[in-house]
Amino acid sequence: QLKDNTIVIVFGASGDLAKKKTYPALFGLYRNGYLPKDIHIVGYARTKMDDAEYHKRTTGYIKNPDNDPEVTAKIEEFKKLSTYVSGGYEDAPSFQNLTKHLESIEANYKGGDVNRIFYLALPPSVFVPVGKHVRDNCYSSKGVNRIIIEKPFGKDLDSCRELLSSLKQSWTEDETFRIDHYLGKEMVKNILVLRFANVAMGSAWDKNSVSNVQITFKEPFGTEGRGGYFDEFGMIRDVLQNHLLQVLSILTMERPVSFASEDIRDEKVKVLRCIPPIERKDTLLGQYVAANGKPGYLDDDTVPKDSVCPTFAATTLWINNERWEGVPFILKAGKALNEAKVEIRVQFKDVAQGIFKDVSRNELVMRIQPSEAVYLKMNTKTPGLNFRAIPTEMDLTYKRRFTDTKIPEAYEALILDALKGDHSNFVRDDELDVAWKIFTPILHWIDGKDGPRPKPAPYPYGSRGPKELDAYIAKLGYKRSAEEYSWPTTSMS
Ligand code: NAP
Ligand code: NAP
Repeated sequence: QLKDNTIVIVFGASGDLAKKKTYPALFGLYRNGYLPKDIHIVGYARTKMDDAEYHKRTTGYIKNPDNDPEVTAKIEEFKKLSTYVSGGYEDAPSFQNLTKHLESIEANYKGGDVNRIFYLALPPSVFVPVGKHVRDNCYSSKGVNRIIIEKPFGKDLDSCRELLSSLKQSWTEDETFRIDHYLGKEMVKNILVLRFANVAMGSAWDKNSVSNVQITFKEPFGTEGRGGYFDEFGMIRDVLQNHLLQVLSILTMERPVSFASEDIRDEKVKVLRCIPPIERKDTLLGQYVAANGKPGYLDDDTVPKDSVCPTFAATTLWINNERWEGVPFILKAGKALNEAKVEIRVQFKDVAQGIFKDVSRNELVMRIQPSEAVYLKMNTKTPGLNFRAIPTEMDLTYKRRFTDTKIPEAYEALILDALKGDHSNFVRDDELDVAWKIFTPILHWIDGKDGPRPKPAPYPYGSRGPKELDAYIAKLGYKRSAEEYSWPTTSMS
């Protein structure tokens, strides 16, 4: 880990990501003593603002609900190590001016290297010029330089390749940290441990035991006036091609030789390369319509009136290798649904016929958010003087099991990894390439590049998705519990 003489430079410091995620994460790390002792943070953007305004914006989202004086004092300390420079993204003199500012901070260093971590919290339209200008004008000649960038990494295979190759002219793969913040989530990181540190789990992890897998992302709200950006991308680019596919690759990869980042990423790429491009017939698209007093997608003024952009998508991926052949992996995500949740649901096969009739299938659910949990739905004899099986669960609810542990924010974990130079939880260039190969054909179809654009199925705001969904999933082999499963709500929040 970089111990001292380190500056983190946040480009786009005036923006949404910076105020909501980057700065609160930097503060969280600072507060808990994870940042180098003499860390400096320098914000950069075009907006003109004085230090007071900059501090107000960048600390406004730091949580301190009980006004804890210790946190308040830490926030004041944090402000003192953070300064702001305003400048453009396309002209060399602006970046030279930034370097002067960095050098004025570094003039106080007591010898040693000079490390600079450049975090691009910027729209993709300026990734390339900023990457180049930073390399040309702000690169530290002695010490570590790293660049952190955020999705979207292109819109399809060609645009991704173009973006990557432009950035590669300035930055090596080793210096580049591409964020997919799902890789920083606690439960996603836990998948490797659940799979590879438990013999019982590992041995049931293949086509012989697993019937089907669903990786689900559900949001209970729509675009609500912020549909402009979304309409250009749609649900598949926003969630499936990156976040859910990352989860899938960790869930299905072979055991890595070690936990070294390249060993892990090699295995992820290997399994992704076994997945053929998604077929149209394996895709269900939806768009929410007004219901229960809530507006439909097309009622959003920032959305074109005739938009056919999917706000819901379910797709099925098939992995052509010995372990997984024939097992459907259903990735599904939607806005304006009935609940907020991200989960992995691995449904096992039926038990052999004979002694039981209509017994429910085992399901292993890993709830990524909210409220992390892992539970295995399993059949138990109904207690009492009879011999009926009922579906119950083995339950690991984090809040109950790890009462004293604070689960870090994904961005805290990722920024710390970048400071350590650990690439395990960042997306490698070849991973992106295969990811886009899987998704580009259906995206081009949805974009209307090969003919008329498909029309998404309507679904009411607040529902579970298009009415076609249950039949779609059932066709792939998913079976609901034979008997209604109920969770004793009194036992947990
Ligand atoms: P943003 O608020 O729209 O933009 C960040 C800053 O960039 C703005 O404050 C603005 O600063 C500058 N900017 C905006 N539009 C620009 C343009 N057309 N040309 C040049 N500069 C422009 O974006 P964001 O939501 O923070 O997201 C930043 C990056 O993170 C994006 O790649 C986004 O996809 C990704 N991301 C965001 C989130 C999130 O929660 N917001 C989550 C995951 C990933 P100045 O005008 O002051 O220069
Ligand atoms: P469940 O309600 O039995 O099953 C949920 C699954 O069935 C999801 O795949 C869902 O799809 C689908 N589904 C829901 N309604 C359906 C319908 N009408 N027709 C067809 N499919 C439907 O949920 P569960 O995971 O087995 O757990 C039940 C409840 O117990 C949940 O509220 C859960 O949070 C709780 N529980 C909590 C814990 C814990 O916190 N540790 C442990 C065990 C259970 P979609 O996702 O697409 O809607």
